[in-house]
Amino acid sequence: MDIGSDDRQFQTQWYRVSSRLKAEIGETAFENWVKPIKACDVKNSEVRLAVPSRFMRDWVVANYLDRLKELWVDENDGVRSVDILIQPTMKTKSDEAADGQAVGLEDDARNASVNGNDSKTGVNGAVQSGWESGSKIAAPLDNRFRFDQFVVGKPNEFAYAAARRVAEAQSVPFNPLFLYGGVGLGKTHLMNAIAWEILERDPSRTVMYLSAEKFMYRFVRALREQNTVDFKEQFRSVDVLMIDDVQFIGGRDATQEEFFHTFNALVDQGRQIILSADKSPSDLEGVEERLKSRLNCGLVADIHATTYELRLAILETKAETMELEAPRQVLEFLAHKITSNVRELEGALNRVAAHTQLVGREMTLETTQEVLHDLLRANDRRVTIEEIQKRVAEHFNIRLSDMHSARRARSVARPRQVAMYLAKQLTSRSLPEIGRKFGGRDHTTVMHAVKKVDELRDHDTTFAEDVELLRRMLEG
Ligand code: ADP
Ligand code: MG
Repeated sequence: MDIGSDDRQFQTQWYRVSSRLKAEIGETAFENWVKPIKACDVKNSEVRLAVPSRFMRDWVVANYLDRLKELWVDENDGVRSVDILIQPTMKTKSDEAADGQAVGLEDDARNASVNGNDSKTGVNGAVQSGWESGSKIAAPLDNRFRFDQFVVGKPNEFAYAAARRVAEAQSVPFNPLFLYGGVGLGKTHLMNAIAWEILERDPSRTVMYLSAEKFMYRFVRALREQNTVDFKEQFRSVDVLMIDDVQFIGGRDATQEEFFHTFNALVDQGRQIILSADKSPSDLEGVEERLKSRLNCGLVADIHATTYELRLAILETKAETMELEAPRQVLEFLAHKITSNVRELEGALNRVAAHTQLVGREMTLETTQEVLHDLLRANDRRVTIEEIQKRVAEHFNIRLSDMHSARRARSVARPRQVAMYLAKQLTSRSLPEIGRKFGGRDHTTVMHAVKKVDELRDHDTTFAEDVELLRRMLEG
């Protein structure tokens, strides 16, 4: 979640500014003109506020902007200007259409949702035809990627809640919804789940889901065929536009430009936009500032790296779905060893399952290790304990030798514990082996370190982020 203390501070300032303005202009004017304003962010000394319509913006600019600015400077003398954006949250087209025009579609979807998993074709049929009317360029949804198949845990609970909110909302709750996180952590799954849910609730809505690459490819082709008007129309007539992996748009100026305009056009019309990327909007490379700031203006939700608990829960769910007799020990082993991402985790489970079924053997820890030995080794080879020690020492600004030393001062002991923790997470070394590499410490010391770091991660977000950052760097 990208709402840090800065944002809280910013929202507090907004609260104070708007309260003072309320005292000046009175309750009614406040309700009409100030209350609907959403405070987005402050960047480069510019405060950005959003209102739902052009009319409102004109009014607020004409009547309150100067005062808003003065009040804001009172709160925060770093502020130089206040900008007002338009960000409509009007009713959706389908609200207005009220009674379904697409009766056939609705029936299909009802049957499908009643019959659940058994009528995959029914759902697919409904979705496809729903799309055909809106566009021919969307990608098909994946039937497995539903909300009920998504395992929720600490690392993804916020993104999940945001996704559900968008899927269930009658109007646009925030725009855009920007989901970001590392590869294989469930972004595409969540986006598909949103699309399914929206279409099941109201099949008359047009939902378009596609990858940024596809968007780019289509755009380039439209340019070549001098057919950009059609291209624009296809995008601008949807109720919900989802573009997956928008990091690929970075650096391609023409595509970015088009994307920016499509984006603005849809937001202005109150259509929902949902985007995903492997980085936060601010960290996207090769993306123009003005686009970044638009992306930041909705809800930014990140999916953190998986925790052991989440990995185990996912494995349990998958095993159940696959009707697999998987001993708990095996699942725990996999959850412990395959830490990179959920996709790899699923792959590992599938491989072990396929193997045991083929040779007709029981699934045990031994067969698992045997079947996955290359994968486990690859996970190992990725990073060595020495590398971990070096990186962690650099990160916390301590001497490398302190990783082995007997010093117990918190300033060196904590980083050392982090390094032990990462060694446990990222390599397949045993606890005694790890202990040996840290100046010949006992395996119980390593165990304690792992527990301690786990605890701290739960309670201290800054610390958790540090650890996460290191992990990502090491896995690089
Ligand atoms: P991303 O788009 O972030 O790279 P995906 O959405 O494609 O990742 O997820 C990769 C795989 O992992 C998919 O098969 C998806 O169903 C699965 N997956 C990811 N997160 C979860 C989760 N929380 N619960 C269940 N399955 C998950
Ligand atoms: Mg994806």
